[in-house]
Amino acid sequence: MKDKVTIITGASRGIGRAIAVRLAEYGGNLILIGRDKSKLDETANFVTEKGGKPSVYAGDVSNKNFIDDTVKDVLNKFGRVDHLINNAGVAIFKKFVDVTIEEFMAQMNVNMYAVFNFTKAVVPYMVQNKSGTIINISSLAGKNPFVYGTTYAATKHALMGFTKSLMLELREHNIRVAAVCPGSVQTDMIIDTPVAPKEISKVLKPEDVAETVAVIINLPQNALVSEIEIRPTNPK
Ligand code: NAP
Repeated sequence: MKDKVTIITGASRGIGRAIAVRLAEYGGNLILIGRDKSKLDETANFVTEKGGKPSVYAGDVSNKNFIDDTVKDVLNKFGRVDHLINNAGVAIFKKFVDVTIEEFMAQMNVNMYAVFNFTKAVVPYMVQNKSGTIINISSLAGKNPFVYGTTYAATKHALMGFTKSLMLELREHNIRVAAVCPGSVQTDMIIDTPVAPKEISKVLKPEDVAETVAVIINLPQNALVSEIEIRPTNPK
């Protein structure tokens, strides 16, 4: 990882920050993306402490121009993108009768279209280099239904179809595409929502998901884990 370039979306907090801090142990260039510049700067400090080289790009991933400009700048500066971690996500947990089309689209824009646009921007370079890893942070909500989940689950099911099809298409170019599907994780996303677990300390930690991402990246280049489900060992 030392000279490699890894883009991590949603790196300002939660799972994305934990992934950045975990991958920083390998010392590579970590491109940290999110809207909250001060929180991204905090992540950057943690990354530096762990031995990584952070670059902060603050912006909205539902804006295609921001994505294209960011990837262009990264390629100009570093000449490569080795790993793309599509982690940024939005969840609005509501009964279907209460959810609006705007809320559905806000989730779709980040959970699916931003993934499409980032992937579209980096894949030509990965194909040219005959190497790369794309990890999409999906969810068990991408595989299972749940009450309050119509719109969020729809975005994550879409992401699963995209990820699995992309995996089949890109592996002939030595590009690994993986979906990581965690159950509930101790982050802002679920706290104080109708799907919050009774005991938050019993569910997964962001660091557990970060470790899973590190495992996928660290596997020998010829080995592709296409999908991982991750749950707490004992949720009771
Ligand atoms: P979180 O703590 O709410 O963090 C979400 C991250 O996404 C933040 O860094 C946020 O950054 C970024 N983000 C959201 N909208 C954005 C936008 N328009 N532009 C740029 N960045 C944006 O959530 P999390 O739990 O870490 O979620 C990370 C991923 O894991 C998501 O894809 C989520 O669906 C998935 N996941 C979460 C759980 C869970 O229980 N927490 C379970 C399974 C899967 P800014 O606010 O700075 O923009």
